Amino acid sequence: MPEQHLQYIDGARRAGSGAPLSILAPATGAIVATGRGAHADDVETAVGAARSAFPAWAALTPGTRSDLMHEWARILRERAPELAAIESVNAGKPIRLATEFDVPGTIDNTAFFAGAARHLEGKAAGEYSGEHTSSIRREPLGVIGSISPWNYPLQMAGWKILPAIAAGNTVVLKPSELTPLTSLLFAEAATAAGIPAGVINVLTGAGLDAGQPLVEHPAVAMVSFTGSTAVGRRVAASAAGAAKRVHLELGGKAPFVVFDDADLEAAARGAVAGALINAGQDCTAATRAYVQRPLFEEFVGRVAHLMDQVRIGPVEDPDTDMGSLISRAHRDKVHGMVERARTDGAKVVHGGRIPEHTPPAGAYYEPTLITGAVQDSEIVQQEIFGPVLVVLPFDTDDEAIALANDTPYGLAASAWSRDVFRTQRASREIQAGCVWINDHIPIVSEMPHGGLKSSGFGKDMSAYAFEEYTNIKHVMSDITGAAHKPWHDVIFRAR
Ligand code: NAD
Repeated sequence: MPEQHLQYIDGARRAGSGAPLSILAPATGAIVATGRGAHADDVETAVGAARSAFPAWAALTPGTRSDLMHEWARILRERAPELAAIESVNAGKPIRLATEFDVPGTIDNTAFFAGAARHLEGKAAGEYSGEHTSSIRREPLGVIGSISPWNYPLQMAGWKILPAIAAGNTVVLKPSELTPLTSLLFAEAATAAGIPAGVINVLTGAGLDAGQPLVEHPAVAMVSFTGSTAVGRRVAASAAGAAKRVHLELGGKAPFVVFDDADLEAAARGAVAGALINAGQDCTAATRAYVQRPLFEEFVGRVAHLMDQVRIGPVEDPDTDMGSLISRAHRDKVHGMVERARTDGAKVVHGGRIPEHTPPAGAYYEPTLITGAVQDSEIVQQEIFGPVLVVLPFDTDDEAIALANDTPYGLAASAWSRDVFRTQRASREIQAGCVWINDHIPIVSEMPHGGLKSSGFGKDMSAYAFEEYTNIKHVMSDITGAAHKPWHDVIFRAR
């Protein structure tokens, strides 16, 4: 297989100067691309390109940036089948998910930020002291160093790049070294749309080889990170050394609370879809279902029955519901957590095995349903990031809310009930960046995504993302023309 250039710097593909890199198809274990990873030298070149491109990009009118981004969205729409096919193979996800969720989601995000580029908002200019006019300028920060994970490679590239460049910044993105292919195509499509070289750069390489030097680079004004809580903490610590702005989208452990007046069939279906989306490798996936005791047995039975019908198969088959996990190492980690839960006395009601008839070099895992775990166990407290749903009972509403809040994470949650007062209370008291009512998972470009507690801080998507990528500057102009201003008397009274 001929080596590919896996870096995108200053509007062109380049070879990296780091270690050899093989990009795999996790469903089969096949190598789909080879090349060289990025190294500190490539970080230097990419940051230099982004730095050079910044003044001219920031100086364009919002209208011009918006037009270029709309053209980008148009090109992405044209290339959607190619993007979906590559995303599906490289991330091991079913072609149906890539075609109907990942790619259209990114196109919609691109179109949203093309429009939003023209709507940077601030407080109205006014005479707040009576002697000055105050106004707000929202200014881009400069070069943004962005780091993204492997679970939704294209969508995460979009969430990182789009608000940043819409606001006039330039970006160096380091995608996961496991899944860089669609991020490279995304950047190429931007160049094809007329977005100037250097505005978007992509560095494919390992965290320590490329991510760390990017975070530490003195010309990087801000670090925007999506990934695990453990790595996010390291990244924040490195950025803190230089007092850089940081945006952290980290892990999750979403609770799924089913009250006794819920529509049971809707909740069971919602739990299966919410737990198994992207083979559970979703930071907002439903991982802990708390079900009020009268519904508990029936809920578990229905979920097990639905999980039994989930079709595992080749990712290119449009009938496949669930693909593979990202790697065999990750699959082994998920299986290890399930086995430890079993040893600790939990019951594996469904799944918990490597499925039969899947490629031996693939990373498949069965949809897995667990009961009988205790609240403070690893399987309930820690992120699994696999197709595993744990179901626990509760008796009172107070208990449900307390259990939902009882993990280190706070990214997403859902509450299921026909009682508006119960759902209102849940939406108010559950500590999470998003609370769904009678649903779990849907996202929209107009609304923010981001967590609290160990799930990080800052928002992706929506106009709120501009808060992350702009400096809010107050400009205060004297309107009196007086040399001796009344407030001077507080400091000195010389006449
Ligand atoms: P990860 O933390 O292992 O890696 C994320 C990125 O950080 C990768 O690009 C990696 O190469 C890079 N990295 C690793 N070490 C680094 C270092 N020292 N300096 C700089 N960069 C470094 O996460 P992952 O396994 O790729 O992704 C899964 C995680 O991402 C899960 O925890 C999931 O919850 C989280 N996630 C969160 C969100 C969200 O919006 N909150 C969205 C998607 C995924």
